Amino acid sequence: MPRFEMDLNPVSHITSDAIGQPGQRVFYLQAWRETDPQPVTILIEKIQLQSLATGIEQLLDEIAKQKPDLPQAAGDFEEEKMRITPPLDPLFRAGEVGLGYDDAQDLVIILVREIVMEDEDSANAAVVRFWCTRTQVRSLARWGNEVISRGRPICPQCGQPMEPEGHFCPKKNGHKH
Ligand SMILES: [Zn+2]
Repeated sequence: MPRFEMDLNPVSHITSDAIGQPGQRVFYLQAWRETDPQPVTILIEKIQLQSLATGIEQLLDEIAKQKPDLPQAAGDFEEEKMRITPPLDPLFRAGEVGLGYDDAQDLVIILVREIVMEDEDSANAAVVRFWCTRTQVRSLARWGNEVISRGRPICPQCGQPMEPEGHFCPKKNGHKH
C-alpha cells in the first residue's frame, strides 16, 4: 500500500519553478485546491520537468486529434502567478511522473510517485495526482520550458543555452568554450 495517496481533483492552480543559483537550481512542482489554502509541493528534477512539458504537449496534440470539437487549450500565463515563493515544504521527491486523461471530466491527470531507495518497496511509495484542465497543463508546460531555459546563459555564437559543465558549440565544430 502507498504510504499515502492524495488527489487534488481538481487543482485551482498548478505551476513549477526553480529556486537557487544557475547550475544549482532546485526544481519544484506546486499546486493547490480551491478549498485548501495550503499548497502541495513536490521536488522534481529538471529532466523530469522537461519530459513532463514535452509529454503534456504530445498528450494535448493527441487529444485535439481525437476530439476536434473540444476548444483549443490556451497556454498563456502570467509570470508572477507562476512563480513559487519560499518557504517551501515539499511532501517528497518525485521518482516517477506520469500523465493521463479523464475523458468524462476533460481533465489531464499528472501522477507523481515518490522516489524509492533501493532497499525500499516501491509499492509503499506515496502518490499524488493533480487533476488539471488542458489549459492549466499547457500553461505549466510553456512556463516550465521557460524556467528550464532561463537557468543557462545563451551562447553568443550559436544562440543555444550553455550548460554549466561546458558547451559544445555547433558553430565552433563542437569545441568547448
Ligand atoms: Zn554555442
